[in-house]
Amino acid sequence: MLGLMQDRPLTLPHVFHRAEQVFGHKTLVTATANGQESVTVADWAVRVRRLATALDGLGLAADARVATFCWNTSRHLELYLAAPCTGRVLHTLNIRLFPEQLTYIANHAEDEVVFVDRSLLPLFTPHLDKMETVRHVIVIDDGADAQIPDDPRVRDYEELLAASEPYVGRFVVDDENAAAAMCYTSGTTGNPKGVVYSHRSALLHSLITMTVDGLGVCERDVVLPVVPMFHANAWGLPYGCLMAGSSIVFPGPNMTPQAIAGLLDEHKVTVTAGVPTIWMGLLSIVDQYDLSSLRTVICGGSAVPRSLSEGFRERLGVPMLQAWGMTETSPIATVSTGRAHMASWTEDERADGRARQGYPAPLVELRITDPDTGEEQPWDDTATGEIQAAGPWIAKEYYRGEGGGAQYTDDGWLRTGDVASVDRYGSFRLVDRTKDLIKSGGEWIGSVELENEIMAHPKVAEAAVIAIPHEKWVERPLACVVVKDGEDVTGEEILAFLSDRVAKWWIPDAVEFIDEVPKTSVGKFSKKTLREKFGGYQVA
Ligand code: ADP
Repeated sequence: MLGLMQDRPLTLPHVFHRAEQVFGHKTLVTATANGQESVTVADWAVRVRRLATALDGLGLAADARVATFCWNTSRHLELYLAAPCTGRVLHTLNIRLFPEQLTYIANHAEDEVVFVDRSLLPLFTPHLDKMETVRHVIVIDDGADAQIPDDPRVRDYEELLAASEPYVGRFVVDDENAAAAMCYTSGTTGNPKGVVYSHRSALLHSLITMTVDGLGVCERDVVLPVVPMFHANAWGLPYGCLMAGSSIVFPGPNMTPQAIAGLLDEHKVTVTAGVPTIWMGLLSIVDQYDLSSLRTVICGGSAVPRSLSEGFRERLGVPMLQAWGMTETSPIATVSTGRAHMASWTEDERADGRARQGYPAPLVELRITDPDTGEEQPWDDTATGEIQAAGPWIAKEYYRGEGGGAQYTDDGWLRTGDVASVDRYGSFRLVDRTKDLIKSGGEWIGSVELENEIMAHPKVAEAAVIAIPHEKWVERPLACVVVKDGEDVTGEEILAFLSDRVAKWWIPDAVEFIDEVPKTSVGKFSKKTLREKFGGYQVA
């Protein structure tokens, strides 16, 4: 017997029409190079409709890849809807990639058109000739005076929109499994690989950003996504905010802590989201702003040091809401919300709880398995294993079969490459990435855990731990430490600080002081760069 409910496809046109119909009065603010712009959702929706007609006018293939090379702006959000609502595939290019990766990705995805913020042209134009399939370059004037290339493919965004009538009627995408958007992983090993989101996955994922035990975004919120819209679709917030009807403040090109704090203050932002490095930069200046409107600071992309989360709690009264995931998981897979069983916990225990990656989101199934035997491990918070994931917004393969399926198990689960333990309430605690684990004398040392402990030292700004070769133990940890401005600390003091915080054999063999931990294109610690730098390290 079949259910007798309407079989309506789960597609992104629903997000657009809901925003247009129900939330037309809400505003989208964008910080630009020379000020701010504000647009109502109603006016924005007309622009999306114009853009839809314009895309048709460019003569693109029915499922053309529409690439963006943009900051977080309301115009970028126009592309987020117009591309998938007309059946095309939004392809967000990471503006911080190395040129070879950028051209590799644009060619691999066969991008037909690229929309570029004018201020980003200096990063883009030199590589245009190597982009083999790009037929149109649409420049979005964001107030910068960067040189516009003299190339017949180049057109102006506003002129294109002005010349296009708004699309009339409802957008229709019949197949909810059709591709809606794609995003390449940054490729810390091998070539970047394309993750292709479907309408269905993007729509279901946007619901999770709205659940109270998810990111909890609602209509009354003013949301500022610091996380770039090219980093796993800004963690689903653009679609989630439109679905929920929250106002959005886009930070545009100025990502300094002062600029972000100024926007949070001025627009009375209630929810913001970004990687830990962003919040580390902001913590030292929060006292200069009125950030009392903030109720949730979402943090993910790498482990959230307890000291950072506690720093926010102490200074703003708002601890961080940690989320874990990856491009392949859309990305929200776990969220570390407060739970009933914590009611009797001390503040200290709760802080430990928040430093965990948290609970699986509804519809996401997770398990941990022994990396060697593949055996599933118990949720006793002691056993560790690789996290594997299954669910309607988890990738099942990479674009064009890249990677040969190595990242998927025989029963179709995604191998995340992250190692964790899980407590009996289902809270995940990430120990490390498999490739960053340090194998010392046959036992694993979790570099993420060690970093957390080192960053708890009051004089330490940042710390990254990598493996260095060792004759007897094969590998040993090396701590690369950045000292806070104006502070002074010795390696011995740091090692002594760790002595009652971690097992004795976990204590790094040496501490190297560095000016800054190198960062990846999405602002995470780049251990690959550190490993290259300290590859032949000899303990003195
Ligand atoms: P990349 O692999 O290039 O960093 P992703 O943004 O997809 O690209 O990164 C996903 C990885 O980031 C995860 O596999 C995990 O190792 C790490 N990560 C994400 N969120 C967290 C978190 N809350 N705690 C620890 N690590 C995290």
